[in-house]
Amino acid sequence: MFDKILIANRGEIALRVIRACREMGIGSVAVHSTADADAMHVRMADESVCIGPPASPSSYLSFPAIISACEITGAQAIHPGYGFLSENAQFVQIVEDHGLTFIGPTAEHIRVMGDKITAKDTMKELGVPCVPGSDGGVDTVEDALKIGEEFGYPVIIKATAGGGGKGMKVANSAEEMKSAFQTARAEGKANFGNPDVYIEKYLTTPRHIEIQVFGDGKGNAVHLGERDCSLQRRHQKVFEEAPGPSITAEERARIGKICADACARINYIGAGTIEFLYENGEFYFIEMNTRLQVEHPVTEAIFGQDLVREQIRVAAGLPMSFGQDDLKINGHAIEVRINAEKLPNFSPCPGKITQFHAPGGLGVRMDSALYDGYSIPPYYDSLIGKLIVHGRDRPEALARLARALGELIVDGVDTTVPLFHALLQEEAVLSGDYNIHWLEHWLEDNLVG
Ligand code: ADP
Repeated sequence: MFDKILIANRGEIALRVIRACREMGIGSVAVHSTADADAMHVRMADESVCIGPPASPSSYLSFPAIISACEITGAQAIHPGYGFLSENAQFVQIVEDHGLTFIGPTAEHIRVMGDKITAKDTMKELGVPCVPGSDGGVDTVEDALKIGEEFGYPVIIKATAGGGGKGMKVANSAEEMKSAFQTARAEGKANFGNPDVYIEKYLTTPRHIEIQVFGDGKGNAVHLGERDCSLQRRHQKVFEEAPGPSITAEERARIGKICADACARINYIGAGTIEFLYENGEFYFIEMNTRLQVEHPVTEAIFGQDLVREQIRVAAGLPMSFGQDDLKINGHAIEVRINAEKLPNFSPCPGKITQFHAPGGLGVRMDSALYDGYSIPPYYDSLIGKLIVHGRDRPEALARLARALGELIVDGVDTTVPLFHALLQEEAVLSGDYNIHWLEHWLEDNLVG
């Protein structure tokens, strides 16, 4: 086992990894930019190294700065968290070239799944059901129009290198195809340096259902059920739950096995998420994320497992501490993402926290790097906390969420908390009857200010 792990991230996810290290008796090294000198992850880690100025390309994304920090501190492994370098195959290669261990999948798996066209081809071959659409990339508007005709509008044009909801455009008709095709290409090129796009049938009322998978890199893999992340704004998740309110035990077992078998066949190592759209009882693969997800705690809650500990174990060459038969669902969990954003426009709202009080009590977990007097810097993501509740069933989890949100105090900046208070009054949320478009429509009708 490692003696010391460096965490190449910040905020709540850095704390999450430090906590796992401490419980395992492993030393932790925080890295930080000059803007984060007072950040909680720096205070909580055993050691810390300043790796550069505020802008991420010069600090949290700097290969030389992070590798040097490992050398200075003697850290043997790097946990990337999510975002930043977590899905950067080149970084993984460099980490390994320096004799260090990357806590995550191989560079090759990241590369294959990071390109959505290749990912889809690979999944198809592995027997995973995919959204109907173009076979591989589409290079010209003429070809795009042919595909539109073949599959019928609406279709969605997606950048193969896309992520975070960028590089996706819907075309409702042949007239819209030309501009949608060109915009998706331009966004792909501008944001990810790759203009290649592909086309899928646009599903009109699907749910976003993702399967948590875990492999040991030696041909063994399991699934930890699904998360329903259909409540999205601009293709970004805001509220996630497990199990999915619409998924039966039989469906879970069936799609879970398909995913676990696919991972076993490619010798996948560590945590991964296979994302699907789910409509009329059918699952359609959209992409695989080769990392720990923001919403992993809802899965941890219902299975009673520590996914970060497991990631560290398999990276160190140990076997997984559970097999498929050990994984039983207990109750229901919900996570809400608390962002420092001002409603109704969700504009980022960095600034000084004058008062912070985290909710507590049975079944409540607050993952946040906030503290009284902390100043949220303007340079990074606006996620400032995740509130996760666990109950014996969905109604209990919902009641607990309302109760915990009522206890939470974040003063000094605007947050997305009022959105969740409002959502908990909605019949669709209470009954679990929503799809990926529900929240956008609701926001248009009820802009909470
Ligand atoms: P990203 O990598 O940017 O997150 P994804 O491929 O995971 O992109 O898609 C993000 C979201 O976009 C999905 O959760 C869904 O809301 C929407 N989406 C993607 N593909 C389709 C599709 N074929 N039909 C309808 N909605 C889609």
